[in-house]
Amino acid sequence: MPAYTRATFDQVMVPNYAPGAFLPVTGKGSRLKDRSGRVLIDFAGGIAVNSLGHCHPAVVKALERQARRLWHVANFCANEPALELASKLVAKTFAERVFFCNSGAEANEAALKLARRVASDREIAKGKRPDVAKRHGIVAFTNAFHGRTLFTVTATGQKKYLEGYGPLPAGIRHVPYNDLAAAKAAITNRTCAVIVEPMQGEGGVTPATKAFLKGLRKRCDETGALLVFDEVQTGAGRTGALYAYMKFGVTPDILTTAKGLGAGFPIGAMLTTAKLAKHFTVGSHGTTFGGNPLACAVGSAVVDLIASRKVLAGVDKRHAAFVKGLERINAKYGVFREIRGMGLLLGCELVPAHAGKAKDLVALAEKHGVMLLQAGPDVLRFAPSLVIPLADVKEGLNRLGKAVAEHCAATR
Ligand SMILES: *Cc1c(COP(=O)(O)O)cnc(C)c1O
Repeated sequence: MPAYTRATFDQVMVPNYAPGAFLPVTGKGSRLKDRSGRVLIDFAGGIAVNSLGHCHPAVVKALERQARRLWHVANFCANEPALELASKLVAKTFAERVFFCNSGAEANEAALKLARRVASDREIAKGKRPDVAKRHGIVAFTNAFHGRTLFTVTATGQKKYLEGYGPLPAGIRHVPYNDLAAAKAAITNRTCAVIVEPMQGEGGVTPATKAFLKGLRKRCDETGALLVFDEVQTGAGRTGALYAYMKFGVTPDILTTAKGLGAGFPIGAMLTTAKLAKHFTVGSHGTTFGGNPLACAVGSAVVDLIASRKVLAGVDKRHAAFVKGLERINAKYGVFREIRGMGLLLGCELVPAHAGKAKDLVALAEKHGVMLLQAGPDVLRFAPSLVIPLADVKEGLNRLGKAVAEHCAATR
């Protein structure tokens, strides 16, 4: 293969991303290597996707085994890996039925379409004409992120992601996150769904309060709206529970999962109850690749690993190591206003003096050999492998410390 570089990107790719100069060609565990042999410690995890690091042997084995058996059958055939993964998800969560797709946005698209459909069916059952059915309202939250399809990006609601794409799907409104009074007022008997992240990822690594999620559950029960938890980022072990709803003790009606579920192989899923699932009648929704045997064989191996007590307890241990190391950096440089998050989704909000500098710090960190993420202009975000070796946590934080030192020296 010719030696491609970052420059090739500008010649052949649609310019909707702005990748850095580092071009990894191999990955092992929590380390990424480019052609020149330069190694970065990976605290980004492909944005909370590489839940078991890069090329985890058990996952590679599952993929190779399935690659020799069966790659694809259309949805008019069931397949064993999909049935196996669905069975595992049903056994380990509140869900009784699973719909597979290929991404987080598709999982949310399915969730919102299902909610609309349930509401419409119920209104028709009460004798309303389909064209006058009115229960289509969706309540979402400020700073949310739900994906980039037109429906899910409208639920995301951020202006910068919506410009130029109108007309947008109607019926979606936003209220401030963690503001139960505002949510209660917005959720009425015209609302079919409330979609919420138990912890906002892209929006700044902001956990919900328990009272907020409990209050949403109660209000949904009072009004008949469905509660949708978008666990695309918080799911698959990320918070130290298989799904974050388990940590909060609040059970949704519909849950969406993707990112970490495939540990790097594209897969998404919508989980729900049998009672709600039945509204997706034959032909009412679908996707060609949903339930793909390769994706599901990988997902199945991933779930076996991440649902184990060893891995989940390891997330808490690594969380503690991160917090301790980040506090140490902060004691020296005073750059973080708050260190927050759950499990291995952590955020460091910068103090006002360094506001807006998250991007610069991510670039400096890369220069010093550690890859991290931002969550908005003011927050550094960490979403590493759930099994990142503690030695890599330590070394990565050392490198981050050097980046922070250089940043502080330059801005003094
Ligand atoms: C990443 C993300 C999505 C979108 O997932 P895609 O796979 O990019 O479509 C949706 N919701 C949340 C909370 C996410 O973090």
